[in-house]
Amino acid sequence: MTEQQHRHKSGFETRAIHAGYEPDPTTGAVIPPIFATSTYKQDGVGGLRGGYEYSRSGNPTRTALEGALAAVEEGERAFAFASGLAAEDTLVRSLLKPGDHVVIPNDAYGGTFRLIDKVEQPWGIEHSPAPVDDVERIAAAIRPGQTKLVWLETPTNPLLNVGDITALAALAHDAGALLVVDNTFASPYLQQPLTLGADIVVHSTTKYVGGHSDVVGGALIVRDLEIAERIGFHQNAIGGIAGPFDAWLTLRGLKTLAVRMDRHCDNAERVVDFLTSHPAVGDVIYPGLETHPGHEVARRQMRRFGGMVSFRLRDGEQKALSVCERTEVFTLGESLGGVESLIEHPGRMTHASVAGTDLEVPADLVRLSVGIESADDLIADLERALG
Ligand SMILES: *Cc1c(COP(=O)(O)O)cnc(C)c1O
Repeated sequence: MTEQQHRHKSGFETRAIHAGYEPDPTTGAVIPPIFATSTYKQDGVGGLRGGYEYSRSGNPTRTALEGALAAVEEGERAFAFASGLAAEDTLVRSLLKPGDHVVIPNDAYGGTFRLIDKVEQPWGIEHSPAPVDDVERIAAAIRPGQTKLVWLETPTNPLLNVGDITALAALAHDAGALLVVDNTFASPYLQQPLTLGADIVVHSTTKYVGGHSDVVGGALIVRDLEIAERIGFHQNAIGGIAGPFDAWLTLRGLKTLAVRMDRHCDNAERVVDFLTSHPAVGDVIYPGLETHPGHEVARRQMRRFGGMVSFRLRDGEQKALSVCERTEVFTLGESLGGVESLIEHPGRMTHASVAGTDLEVPADLVRLSVGIESADDLIADLERALG
């Protein structure tokens, strides 16, 4: 099957495994080699083979990953970066100039908020926080003519609020702005924002796409070729690219994304059932719960509800900290989306940098990245830690 057919006709799992690479014509290698090369022999001056001249500008291992990412997000082009934040910084510098304005989630990923507030604001990019689940407040935060990006995460981190991608795309477009969706928490298996009207998808591929907690990476995926051109220029001009070994690991992870995500979702549902009936646990936050305020929107735009679960402890912060320190199968650590389960205290860990701002999270909150171990072991571990 040709590249074009993979992109537009095959099912998700087939694209995740086959798109972006044809077996090597000289050796038949089924998996793209790690092209550990900085430069390429030219056949006469300017005679490039396949367009490769220098590995900041292009590297075949990275090209394979970028092709696969474009296919699974149903975009036209994808760009792979050294980290999610390198992708985000490149995006902002590709599309904005001093004086422009961004609307960002009021519970954005802490690093995204820090990038926009502490790094980009001093260079003249203005921003306003708004809740992702409140279209009217996002509309009110838009400054007509000045707002160039509406930045959405859905579900958000760590409060798992859900934003309506279709509605926010229409709102952004009416105001002459673009809708960016950070799709890290859902992964392209559960949600494809470009098919719902979004203009740009951002990933920290460090999380579900890589999936094995062994590589840091990021990506931008777009459907408009003019935007692609600007991002491609800046990817090369700024240079925050994914190296070939990182690209290879990320591509290997992507191939099993669908089966991993289904098991993450199965296990998260079991954990949610357990937590909702435990006396020490207050609110359980999971978009799959009918009581979750974003449940209906999540059902419309997500295949399933993901592997992230947050919950609050009735006895407050000390209890939350002790639960985080007492689990054994759930490893205490930042990050998410790997095969192994992780537990963390957002207030003291991932979200410590937003303490004292509008983005502060409750002190009694615990966040789980539910892995793909045996669900029985995960529940027994939580039961012990809560007891
Ligand atoms: C981790 C993460 C990022 C940042 O990605 P890095 O790969 O750590 O630079 C951005 N957004 C979300 C939702 C994340 O979880």
